[in-house]
Amino acid sequence: MKDTKLFAIFGNPVKHSRSPLMHNKVFKKLGVQACYTRIHLEDGTKLRETFFAQKLMGANITVPHKEAAYKACDEIRGFAQKIGVVNTIVNENGRLIGYNTDADGFLFSIEKFDTLKTILIIGAGGTAKALSMKLQEVGYKVSVLNRSKANLEYFSKSGFITFTWEDCPIVSYDLVVNTTSAGLSDDNYPAPLELLRGLLEKTSYGADAIYGKLTPFLRLCKELNLPYKDGADMLLGQGILANNLFTQEKYSLDEIEKPMKESFSL
Ligand code: NDP
Repeated sequence: MKDTKLFAIFGNPVKHSRSPLMHNKVFKKLGVQACYTRIHLEDGTKLRETFFAQKLMGANITVPHKEAAYKACDEIRGFAQKIGVVNTIVNENGRLIGYNTDADGFLFSIEKFDTLKTILIIGAGGTAKALSMKLQEVGYKVSVLNRSKANLEYFSKSGFITFTWEDCPIVSYDLVVNTTSAGLSDDNYPAPLELLRGLLEKTSYGADAIYGKLTPFLRLCKELNLPYKDGADMLLGQGILANNLFTQEKYSLDEIEKPMKESFSL
C-alpha cells in the first residue's frame, strides 16, 4: 500500500528477532498504517544506503551494528550522544535521527526491584556501556566486571570501579546483571563459577540481558533462591520507547505497552 510506513530491524543475525512481532502488533492494535520487517545486514557501513533504498521511516539496530548506526545518523539525540551507541533511528524529513532506548528499557525492567543502590555489571560490550552509564546517571553505584582487561578501559576512564576475573573481590551488591553473551548460544557462565557463586550468595537480585531462556547465570540465581529476571522486560521497555518515537509520540507509553506485551505470548 502506497501510504504504508515501513520500519525494520537491522542485525546479523536477525532472523530470531522478536521486534517485528512486537511492533506489528502495536501498529495493528492502534490502527497505524505501518509495517515492520527484518533486514539482515553484513556490512554496517551500508546501513544508511540500505535504509534509504528500502524507503524506511525508522529502524532498530541490533548486534553488531549499533556503533555503525551512530555513525550513519545526521543527528544524535539524548542519551545516545553520551555513549556513541544507537539502537533506534527515525527518518525525519530525510534526516536520520539516532537514539538509544536500550538503557531506559533496562531501567523500566528493574522498576519492580526495590531499593537498589549498588549494582555489578558483568561484561564490557555495547550493552554494558549503555546500562552502566545510564545507571550511574540516575544515581546507582555501579561496578563493572569483565573477562578481559582491555575492554574495561572505557569504564575506568568513565569513573567506574572495574575488575577482571583475577582481581574481583567477593563483596555484596544489591543487583548483579549479566550483559555478556555467555549463555546466549552456549552453556557458559559469564565469570568463573566459584567467583560468580560467591558474588550471588551476597546479592539481592539477578538480571540477565539475554531473554527467552534460563541461562547458566539465571540458573545459578534460581539455585540460590535469588529473585531474578531475564531480558524480556528490557526488550519490551526498549521496544515501547522506540515505537513511541516511530509514531511521533502520538500514543502514550501505556497504550503502546499493552499490545506490545501481548506479542510476547505469540
Ligand atoms: P558485545 O559483543 O558488545 O559484548 C560482549 C561482552 O560479553 C564482552 O564484554 C565479552 O567479554 C563478554 N563475553 C562474551 N562471551 C563471554 C564468555 N563466554 N564469558 C565471559 N564474558 C564473555 O555484546 P552486546 O553488549 O551487544 O550484547 C550482549 C548481550 O546482551 C547479548 O546476549 C544480547 O543478546 C543481549 N542484549 C539484550 C537486549 C534486550 O533487549 N534484552 C538488548 C541488547 C543486548 P570480552 O570483553 O572479554 O570479550
